[in-house]
Amino acid sequence: MAFLFRSGSIDNSKMDAAASHQIHTPEEAVSRIAYLSSDVIVSVQPSLATDSPFSSHLKRYASRKDKSIVAKNADAVPEIQSVRHNADPLLSVFAPIRSGKLVSVTTTSSILLASISHLYKLANYPVVLHVSLEPRTFADYSVITSIRNSGWTFLHSESLQEAQDIALTAHALAIHTGKGVIHFFAPSTSTSDKPVAPEDPSVVRGLLDIESVRRFQASTISASGIYADDGHVAVSSRVPEPLTDAEHQADTAGGLQAPVSAVASKVTSAGTSVKTSRASESGDSEASVSVATTVETAPPQITSADIYESATRIWRQLEAAVGRSYSAFEYTGPPNATNALFIFGSDAGSFGEVLDSAKPDDVFANAAIITPRLYRPWIGSKLVQVIPKSIKRIAVLEQIQRKTTKWGPTLIDVLTSIKSGPGGVEHIVGYQLGYVDPKVITQALRGIFQNLTSPKPIQNLEVGVREAPEEESQYTTKPSTHETAYNKILQQLFGKRSYVANAIKSQHAGISATISASPEFGFGSLLARKDLRSRFVAEAKAAASSKDFITDAPKNWLAKWALAAEDPSKASEIADDVIARLETDGSPLSQKLLANKALFRKESLWLTGSDAWAYDLGNSGVHHVLASGENVNMLIIDSTPYSEKAAADAERRKKDIGLYAMNFGNVYVASTAVYSSYTQVLQALLEADKFDGPSVVLAYLPYFGEGDSPLTVLQETKKAVEAGYWPLYRWNPDNEKKGEPNFTLDSELIKLELKKFLERDNQLTQLMKKEPKFAASLAQDYGTEVRAQQKRKAKDAYNQLLEGLLGAPLTILYASDNGNAATLAKRLGNRGRARGLKTCVMAMEDYPVEDLAGEENIVFLASTAGQGEFPQNGLAFWDAVKDSTELDLATVNYSVFGLGDSHYWPRKEDKIFYNKPAKDLDRVLANFGGKRLADIGLGDDQDPDGFQTGYQEWEPKIWAALGVDKVEGLPEEPPPVTNEDIKLASNYLRGTIVEGLNDTSTGALSAWDQQLTKFHGTYMQDDRDVRDERKAQGLEPAYSFMIRCRLAGGVATPKQWVQMDDISTSLGNETMKLTTRQTFQFHGVVKGKLKPAMQAINRALMSTIAACGDVNRNVMCSSLPTQSKYHKQVHTVSQKISDHLLPATTAYHEIWLTDDDNKKTQVAGEAVQDFEPLYGPTYLPRKFKITIAIPPHNDTDVYAHDIGLIAIKGKDGNLEGFNILAGGGMGATHNNKKTYPQMGRMFGYCSAEDAHIVCEKIMLVQRDHGDRKNRKHARLKYTIDDMGVDVFRGKVEELWGKKFAEERPFEFKSNVDTFGWQKDENGLNHFTFFIENGRIEDTPDFRMKTGLREIAQLGKGEFRLTGNQHLILSNIADEDLPAIKELMKSYKLDNLQFSGLRLSSSACVAFPTCGLAMAESERYLPVLISKLESCLEENGLRQDSIVMRMTGCPNGCARPWLAEVAFVGKAYGAYNMYLGGGYHGQRLNKLYRSSIKEDEILEIMKPLLKQYALERLEGERFGDFCIRAGIIKATTDGRNFHDNIMFQVAEEGSDEE
Ligand code: SF4
Repeated sequence: MAFLFRSGSIDNSKMDAAASHQIHTPEEAVSRIAYLSSDVIVSVQPSLATDSPFSSHLKRYASRKDKSIVAKNADAVPEIQSVRHNADPLLSVFAPIRSGKLVSVTTTSSILLASISHLYKLANYPVVLHVSLEPRTFADYSVITSIRNSGWTFLHSESLQEAQDIALTAHALAIHTGKGVIHFFAPSTSTSDKPVAPEDPSVVRGLLDIESVRRFQASTISASGIYADDGHVAVSSRVPEPLTDAEHQADTAGGLQAPVSAVASKVTSAGTSVKTSRASESGDSEASVSVATTVETAPPQITSADIYESATRIWRQLEAAVGRSYSAFEYTGPPNATNALFIFGSDAGSFGEVLDSAKPDDVFANAAIITPRLYRPWIGSKLVQVIPKSIKRIAVLEQIQRKTTKWGPTLIDVLTSIKSGPGGVEHIVGYQLGYVDPKVITQALRGIFQNLTSPKPIQNLEVGVREAPEEESQYTTKPSTHETAYNKILQQLFGKRSYVANAIKSQHAGISATISASPEFGFGSLLARKDLRSRFVAEAKAAASSKDFITDAPKNWLAKWALAAEDPSKASEIADDVIARLETDGSPLSQKLLANKALFRKESLWLTGSDAWAYDLGNSGVHHVLASGENVNMLIIDSTPYSEKAAADAERRKKDIGLYAMNFGNVYVASTAVYSSYTQVLQALLEADKFDGPSVVLAYLPYFGEGDSPLTVLQETKKAVEAGYWPLYRWNPDNEKKGEPNFTLDSELIKLELKKFLERDNQLTQLMKKEPKFAASLAQDYGTEVRAQQKRKAKDAYNQLLEGLLGAPLTILYASDNGNAATLAKRLGNRGRARGLKTCVMAMEDYPVEDLAGEENIVFLASTAGQGEFPQNGLAFWDAVKDSTELDLATVNYSVFGLGDSHYWPRKEDKIFYNKPAKDLDRVLANFGGKRLADIGLGDDQDPDGFQTGYQEWEPKIWAALGVDKVEGLPEEPPPVTNEDIKLASNYLRGTIVEGLNDTSTGALSAWDQQLTKFHGTYMQDDRDVRDERKAQGLEPAYSFMIRCRLAGGVATPKQWVQMDDISTSLGNETMKLTTRQTFQFHGVVKGKLKPAMQAINRALMSTIAACGDVNRNVMCSSLPTQSKYHKQVHTVSQKISDHLLPATTAYHEIWLTDDDNKKTQVAGEAVQDFEPLYGPTYLPRKFKITIAIPPHNDTDVYAHDIGLIAIKGKDGNLEGFNILAGGGMGATHNNKKTYPQMGRMFGYCSAEDAHIVCEKIMLVQRDHGDRKNRKHARLKYTIDDMGVDVFRGKVEELWGKKFAEERPFEFKSNVDTFGWQKDENGLNHFTFFIENGRIEDTPDFRMKTGLREIAQLGKGEFRLTGNQHLILSNIADEDLPAIKELMKSYKLDNLQFSGLRLSSSACVAFPTCGLAMAESERYLPVLISKLESCLEENGLRQDSIVMRMTGCPNGCARPWLAEVAFVGKAYGAYNMYLGGGYHGQRLNKLYRSSIKEDEILEIMKPLLKQYALERLEGERFGDFCIRAGIIKATTDGRNFHDNIMFQVAEEGSDEE
């Protein structure tokens, strides 16, 4: 039999029986009601990545776009604002509630105490707080009693059904009374409830009183802020109607007729006499009225009586609708009971069950239970009314874990409400209710009643145990795994010296996680720690002269230590020695000192916190620390993603802690971001530690969820830093003493607030004086909306230009991906002008959309990006046009031309992507009433002349439509400028590079110079991660330069390694890339640092000349760690070829290596005429690559280069000569069958002495016969294929004057590296490191860069870069091994526990720097491999080497076409997949699938790997297997690379159907 109000006994018959979905938890019930009844729901979550029991439901409704009942607009979906529990959630309530939105909050009780100040201010608004009490297993009601006087109405529910009904009551009551309502419940009480039907929306609508809702929504409350009382008073939505006499009598008469049984108990004593006048309540001596309502002064205020009456009304209405009744106090039990339990806790149901089944002689037989439903306002008179006259004794059970007053608050409530004395209630006894195990409930009840019924009951007895079985709360302040990065750095920097007050694992007995994570707590414990140390130092000093040691050593060492105790580094140095002596000594005094041995170090004291400290509550704690002046350090991690910062509510007033701290003057402040600059983080932490006073290091680490990949964190960080939202800076008040500016800016841009501060503080002027080059970047600041103004200016300038010209206007807008649409548009503009039209040509993104409706004639040229998307520079325009609701183009004539590739997306369902942007635009413009000048024109790359075919048809139609098609005497158009022209006009690669470098107004170089600098080994790039963000800020792209060194054969000295490392840190982006051509590449070198970087490279005795450009590039050579002598001989040849083919121009030295003062050297002008004996003024038609492989290792992919030399060893073990291959090459263009990768063809053998001459002659034949018209057809491979191998070889032999000999036999076994230690023939040691994709960088988890640097600083051996982007530490003598091995171990550099697949993988750079990248590569391949590794494991393939490569585009930098399996970027997130390459690089692969994404890649790879594991033959390689198993056809020559593609045949077949 169920007792009380268990849901099992509820009659649901009136609910919508058809409702299929049942509600299972109270949180779900509450969420649904809150969703239906609110405009805004503040959903408090453990973290943004972890849902609360409410938020998962709320998000579900929102994702289904379920409608709210109260929404003004019928289609409106309530807004869900997710807020972290420790980020001052109630701050989010103010703005919406004051603007007339109904707000509810779903939360646990953990936020309540900290939010008291807000609660007082929000009490007079109709906000509803649904609170599930924590801890979940055993709720603590003291949180509710602590805030009971905050002026809110409190409603309590116990079962699942009640949670739903009372939630609804709460919303209705808030609307009716205009006051805040807190609905609280302990979720554990309904765990065994049966699911309930969802409340019928019509019932909800009826109770909410939509008229009142609309009245509230129509009002806005003006308030200046959230820190002062805004004086708002709650106003009832309606004048309470007096109850009818009948109702009145029913109440007074029936009130005491308590039911005799549980079932009958459903008829409760609800709504006994309701008095509508305030006077009657306040004058009622029997009742106490909640403080909340008594503080209200000004009319028309809501009284306790009003609230009570409204609640009663709502319950009556609810009862009529659903048959369930509720009242302010629920009395359940026999009408003649003498004993009753008043329970304020979660166990009422369990107690009820025991009472229900009590035997007649049980001490608790016939007892009743009373529970509060309307807890506040507490209407004492109503309590009196529900209690039968027969009751003599009441036990008040309060479930309060931490008691702060002698008498429980509920006991006091009851005592003040009920007069005890003879004839009435005789005893009211308070109990503290702890956790009662269900098995001992009877026993507990017996104890309670025995005391209650004794003649002198004892007050304040404890029932049950204090500690409930523990369940870990979700609402801890446990930092995300992302955030451990900074803690790791602290450990790395300060090691044993670091002391973090609130470290993740530290536990503080009896202190909740929330409290121990507060700045005040941490600060207190750091002070205690400091205090402890000063006492310890005194003790240790005293011990230095003590006689209590057994040995002498401790005294001497302690004396020595005492002198250095306050010096962090010296104290640490001596600490270990002192400790060792004390340990040996073993005396009690030694033991005593050793108990605190950590204190022998002068600790670096840290307090770590989150951006929760940026909100009011945390911020006051931060203030304490800063104001204290104490030498403690704070590390505050901000994890709000940049892309969400705009969504943040302005009212939440997140404080800028950095700015706040700088205003203090005596605080060290740094703003850092580990994913932007690792070095800057280190520097800041070290400076903070050193600073004698408070320090704040702000650390940015944005993430959306726990599962975010580091790539997401990196991209978010970069956007924030690059846009100036999160500037990197350091503020050191100590600098002033040295005459230095306090402020150091470590990133490029700052935000306005910061700039203002600096201006005020005079720091800006100081800084600019010291670093004039900073002026430009400091002058720019984040937050100025300049973009719109820029557009306006550009357009106005155009209009001015056109003024006075005759002829019809024609505006030409383009959106261009690779420049074709832009070129076409500009040419169209020129031709239009020649025909007398007033033409204006702009990129769509530069065009002010508001001008569109005013155009007369406008044409658009749009190419196709990604998956049928607009190119970047057309996206914003397209978004504005398509989303416009008021564009009227009735007077506009337009036409659209699109550029696309009808075969780019081979799948039938993807055909829609072909020229989609142009088609969409054409359609939308017509919908807005535009008139077509000409039908849409479509350019298709597959047409005989590419897009030109379609264009030739379209353009004349435009002229005809504008009436200028028959113009006579048009001038001849100049041919487009080609790379050949640029080279010719450059005066041997000079161009205007010097002028460009001196121009500080832009970070870029001119387009021509960009082509020329390639020959000097540097490319201009821009950071694609932040392109959009910078554009939005009105900034030019984040330009920087990639610099590639020239390092024949990839051999560097340790000193060179250190020098390269320095360059990357001080002039680049703190990382280095070891390239597939065995050299160093730096990224992120800004223009101003380009020359210093070139000079530094030169000082390292390296060069960058001819590392890129149409010349012979870096010459490669197998690394061969096992035969050093032989390697040396072959390596010498590679150097010789490299030197021999070097361009002769002196421009390189003039531009990069002269001092600014050295005016002697002529740079510009025509005075210096160089002579290029090998290249001539136009150099080569295209890049030229040479490599040497030493069999059996094909680690340099000898078949993939213009010239491949295969070293042939003589019988004496020395190098004898080379087999020469020519005409290999990787670059291709997607879907362009005229382009293909090709393998080098065998030309024959030559001696070692002739090798460089042979290379020269091959290069010269290519120089003279290569295609200089079409760069896509200019590589040597096409020249040889067009000419035929024999003819080409003949020409080489003619120039050489000798003939190639018969090729010599050789054998390759693999093209991957052999990792780990190997010994060579001289007994020297070589270690091959695994450097994933060649990226040398430090991360908090793996400090590879620092480790390698330290090894290099030992100055031993040499560093060989491999063609697979790995690194060999070579020529290490046995005696040097121990030191090196130790370093390797400490930096985890000896770890080779990777899968064979990972070890054999390689990827090109691609995003964010490579301008050609269509998809991620280097940053994504490791992620993809991780996703395949479990499958490798399952199939026993973990150790198997499978060559897998990835590139971001078909240019093929990582030589993907030779891999057994390859992925080549097609669009962001989509790749073409290739299979069947030869394991030792001897065979090209073939296209297997086109444009597939990760899920498809995994779907294909997993079964394929399984099949390979099961069906492979002994020793059979994956690529070979794919061919034998018929999965792919073999590519036998580059010219059949595009043939026999199996899946396309099938696709085309299906097309025909
Ligand atoms: S393959 Fe393409 S994306 Fe990758 S680095 Fe080379 S050019 Fe860039």
